[in-house]
Amino acid sequence: MPKGEDQAERLARLAREAHERAAAHDLAADGGEASDAHHHPAEAATDAEARERELRAHLRLLEEEERLLRLAEAAQRGEYGICADCGQEIPAARLEIVPDAERCVSCQEAASGGRRR
Ligand SMILES: [Zn+2]
Repeated sequence: MPKGEDQAERLARLAREAHERAAAHDLAADGGEASDAHHHPAEAATDAEARERELRAHLRLLEEEERLLRLAEAAQRGEYGICADCGQEIPAARLEIVPDAERCVSCQEAASGGRRR
């Protein structure tokens, strides 16, 4: 039983870390050097791209947080580490490396078309 608790705690901690990293993305940081106006269209494009990258990274972290919170709840119910496809236990070593794994290795490979990237 304490095993599930530990997993829930670990996942909750990872979720908090993702949240903090997301919060560290200062999405309102576009005002900073605005007074330093030498604004080429090319630079504006670069700014927009950088901001979009930031935003995407931010959203990814929020998604990660959400997934980890879901898994923390699953762990409290003792349902964490069960493959979503075949229902087998996902090896602890895999969960160690990929805490938000939802499938065992073979199902994950099958799900991604057998290709690894
Ligand atoms: Zn599986």
